[in-house]
Amino acid sequence: MANDYLCPICRGQLRVENSLVISVKSKSNKKGLIFLNPEIGNYGKISHPSFEIVEGDEYTVFCPICHATLNREENPHILKMLLIDETGIQSEVFFSVIVGERCTYVVKGKEMEEAGPDKKLYEKYFDIPEADRKYF
Ligand SMILES: [Zn+2]
Repeated sequence: MANDYLCPICRGQLRVENSLVISVKSKSNKKGLIFLNPEIGNYGKISHPSFEIVEGDEYTVFCPICHATLNREENPHILKMLLIDETGIQSEVFFSVIVGERCTYVVKGKEMEEAGPDKKLYEKYFDIPEADRKYF
């Protein structure tokens, strides 16, 4: 069983089979659906050929179920979802909404796991002591 991802607003399931589905809008108002790889640290993404994923584009990301904005108010460059692991433990997962920035933060209570080559970009937004951080 793989990780499940939930919308933090409606708690709807965002992972279907082996894809995490998000609805996005670019700064130039292009809209589409993107399928992400649900594995932490895998930045593979798929879209319809008519919706090109452009390096450097910044997205507003919406829950495809309730249409809530998933970008963080305090830092719109990252979004938040809930992650339920194989043992049923819930954590919060954050990642960049800018195409090409590869960083993921998984916050479990007072601990945080960081993944991706760009993890330094946003780690300062998490008030978690160095001793409680793990790096991948
Ligand atoms: Zn939702």
